Amino acid sequence: MDDKRRQHIEPASKRPHERPLGAVEMMYSAAEIGARVGALAADIADAMGPDIMVVAVLKGGFVFTADLLRALHHHGVHPRIDFMTLSSYGTGTESSGEVVITRDITDDVRGAKILLIDDILESGRTLAFARALLQERGAEMVRLCVLLDKPEKRKTDLNADYVGFSIGDAFVVGYGLDYAHYYRELPFIGTISTD
Ligand code: 5GP
Ligand code: MG
Repeated sequence: MDDKRRQHIEPASKRPHERPLGAVEMMYSAAEIGARVGALAADIADAMGPDIMVVAVLKGGFVFTADLLRALHHHGVHPRIDFMTLSSYGTGTESSGEVVITRDITDDVRGAKILLIDDILESGRTLAFARALLQERGAEMVRLCVLLDKPEKRKTDLNADYVGFSIGDAFVVGYGLDYAHYYRELPFIGTISTD
């Protein structure tokens, strides 16, 4: 492992509010993510045009969405934006399988061309649930955009229209993604050992 790609983060102490685990190994740097986000924005603008509505899934999608929106602006896209908080994970790394809305959008989606953005497509349950909800409410079109895809972990037949990076079966943190509520602020994406 190249030392430059390993970020040393102080070991967790026994105090309950300190970050768990010790080191995060970089998978995608901030520069690599930035380049990919720019390319995704170009593809989305070409395919969907300027008048779209963005629905971002929180919490994990917030950093990706913020960067993607600004990249879309450079391609002439001027979306409405709303947020939905969905939860299927507890504080660990195993999905419970059940999707719960903890905060709904407030904008009207009838007739809208929606870009639904989330951090990771894993089993597909979260985005299948969100897409069905938006379609039931009268969205004209719902396209899916995810920062990361884990195709090996799929439990549904769902696929994303726009994917930042396709990865294997690793648990990742940073760039909006957490482990037990920590690490979201890291400017890069990395793996942590959860043993
Ligand atoms: P799905 O419903 O597709 O199984 O789950 C996707 C959701 O699980 C993501 O939006 C994300 O919240 C969470 N998730 C899946 N894999 C990871 C991971 O490697 N790291 C983190 N932090 N969350 C993950
Ligand atoms: Mg999520």
